[in-house]
Amino acid sequence: MEIVIKKTQLSIIQGDITLEETDAIVNAANTTLRGGGGVDGAIHRAGGPTILEECVTKYPQGCETGGVRTTNGGLLKAKWIIHTLGPIWHRGSQNEPVLLENSYRNTFHQAERIGATSISYPSISTGIYGFPMQKAAPIAIETVLSCLPSNSIQEVHFVLFSNRSERLTQIGQLGTIWKNHS
Ligand code: ADP
Repeated sequence: MEIVIKKTQLSIIQGDITLEETDAIVNAANTTLRGGGGVDGAIHRAGGPTILEECVTKYPQGCETGGVRTTNGGLLKAKWIIHTLGPIWHRGSQNEPVLLENSYRNTFHQAERIGATSISYPSISTGIYGFPMQKAAPIAIETVLSCLPSNSIQEVHFVLFSNRSERLTQIGQLGTIWKNHS
């Protein structure tokens, strides 16, 4: 599913983010930046040890919620990994939607700063961190849309791992696009 908005192409893709060929890949990391499960584990496994090495030497303090930390892409096709820490879902009682927005916005602007022309996002916080996909999907799409037009980013991929999340995200995307164009 693809759409071009303000000269940037947005796509929803089902698959493994480690296979993406965009300049930058976003990692849904944890606070220590020492690797973990889910997409974080997959990125470190596929990208090899140089990613963790850079995390350890450059960012001994790890990452705060909504923050961004950039490393090399190791063995991946992507030049950069932009690590962010999404919020843990506490039934919406702890400002989680705004924190999730921060993750999307800050990673997008970091990608622009480093000169990336394309970026791939996993569905931040919707795995181990428990953010409901139905709530996360429109936040992902709306936040990226709010960053457009972009001087550098020509392509944004939302990479989803399962059919179910893909369907739900499409619903969110359609709703957002309809709203913006009606
Ligand atoms: P978080 O801790 O932020 O919730 P997770 O890694 O547990 O992060 O999950 C975030 C999302 O990433 C989930 O929707 C999960 O299905 C998805 N995911 C896991 N592995 C991959 C992968 N290799 N490529 C793309 N998405 C993935």
